[in-house]
Amino acid sequence: MKIKDVRPQPFVKQLRCDRCGRLAEDSESEFFEFTSIDYKAGYGSILGDENQIEIDLCQHCLKETLGPWLRVTEPAVPGTKILKALELFNTDRHGGEFPPPRGIPSEEDKS
Ligand SMILES: [Zn+2]
Repeated sequence: MKIKDVRPQPFVKQLRCDRCGRLAEDSESEFFEFTSIDYKAGYGSILGDENQIEIDLCQHCLKETLGPWLRVTEPAVPGTKILKALELFNTDRHGGEFPPPRGIPSEEDKS
């Protein structure tokens, strides 16, 4: 038998941008746009062998510093993700048969 109880857990209440100092509370939309990097550098890293690397950046500083290199993709229209995945299916390579998705004419329908 499991006997449950409740205990307080730590959580991130605020984020402060390490670059500009902007402060965001966890209920604000700005809070959810922060980017945090937190990892342990490997052996031979230019940042020091096995050093802990951390930074919290607001969205404004992220764009100002890394903007040219960010790969920004608009959200997919619902249903298109599965259709793109199905386009990768190749009966010659993967074997078997695969029915065409509904509403999309098959090769036989086109001819
Ligand atoms: Zn900032």
